[in-house]
Amino acid sequence: MSERDLIMIPGPTNVDPKVLRAMARPTLAHTSGAFATIFKETLADLGQIFKTNGVVLPLAGTGTLGGEVAFSNIVEPGDRVLVISGGFFGDRLAEIAVNLGAAVDKFDVPWGATPKLGDVEKKLSSTKYKVMAAVHVDTSTGVANPAKELAALAREKDVLFLLDTVCSLGGMDVQVDDWGINVCFTGSQKALAVPPGLTIISFDSRAQKVSEQRKTSPSSYYGDLKRWLPILTDPTKYFATHPVNMVYALHEGCRIVLAEGLEARFGRHATIATAFRTGLKAMGLRLLCEDAVASNTLTVAYYPPGVRDAEFRKSMQEEFGIVVAGELGPLKDKAFRVGHMGNVNRSDILATLAAIEGSLSKEGYKFPPGAGTSAATKVLTG
Ligand code: PLP
Repeated sequence: MSERDLIMIPGPTNVDPKVLRAMARPTLAHTSGAFATIFKETLADLGQIFKTNGVVLPLAGTGTLGGEVAFSNIVEPGDRVLVISGGFFGDRLAEIAVNLGAAVDKFDVPWGATPKLGDVEKKLSSTKYKVMAAVHVDTSTGVANPAKELAALAREKDVLFLLDTVCSLGGMDVQVDDWGINVCFTGSQKALAVPPGLTIISFDSRAQKVSEQRKTSPSSYYGDLKRWLPILTDPTKYFATHPVNMVYALHEGCRIVLAEGLEARFGRHATIATAFRTGLKAMGLRLLCEDAVASNTLTVAYYPPGVRDAEFRKSMQEEFGIVVAGELGPLKDKAFRVGHMGNVNRSDILATLAAIEGSLSKEGYKFPPGAGTSAATKVLTG
């Protein structure tokens, strides 16, 4: 892979050199006053990005650890949990809850669709659940689930709501406090455009109270919220060593997000996503989900008959210097995934469409040359 390759996978995403330079700064002592200042600033910025006054906890680890820590603080063995799953990462959420000893019911939604809210409400009325969990954007499908509406249903039924925003936060609106997301987790490597290595989990006051009142200790010692709360208040105290240079990266990454402005950033993601989907459709490609439920952070498109996944992606990378992702689970080899989040710009998306055109042509697919790039350009300049 060339250092100039453009990573258009759904995470990790292209990292701004400013973030990489921040990481290269000398490693401070993890309990020093100088590091505590950076850590506190990062927490304040994360609070703005999560739109919460609750607790925000960055930990060394990936999104998967975030899911474990999120559940592990509010769920005890035997607790009833409802997991809404319409893809690979919804299934993973259910597996994590099962692994913690919860009694899990899975509400399955076909890949590419969103849950019917009336059916979710019936399910919540049928059993007294402690927690309902969902994925905002499932990275295997590119579907954006109705997080705000699900949160409202959970609140109405007095059930805690836990949301995976690994593939949305920083690129699409997530209003932790206003929507009532009791526990929310994300990863550093997607729309926040920081290298992989950090997970961030928020807990609102209700989730904190539930975690305080639990009868058993959380199975994760490292991820135990009560051990971290004193450190979040005073980062010169020690519980476990902070990933100092990754925190520098997150600090810089948050500054970039807030300097752009959250609403402007969401608008940029929306425009680029619309242009990309329009371009793919103009080439005659079929997308996994309808525009009305499509996320602004990634898109999944089916291959036309005869196009081979490995050869297509090899051509994308070797001939055009653009890395896109294959599919997972039942869609493996049938579709490909393109991430368009974080620092993505108009040139990136046009270059990606041009590379898709070139690589599909090479695989023998026939369509009007330039159809995708020209349709996308109209959206971007319209
Ligand atoms: N949840 C979603 C929606 C994801 O996209 C991912 C990773 O792609 C994860 C969870 C797991 O995150 P990680 O791979 O950082 O452990």
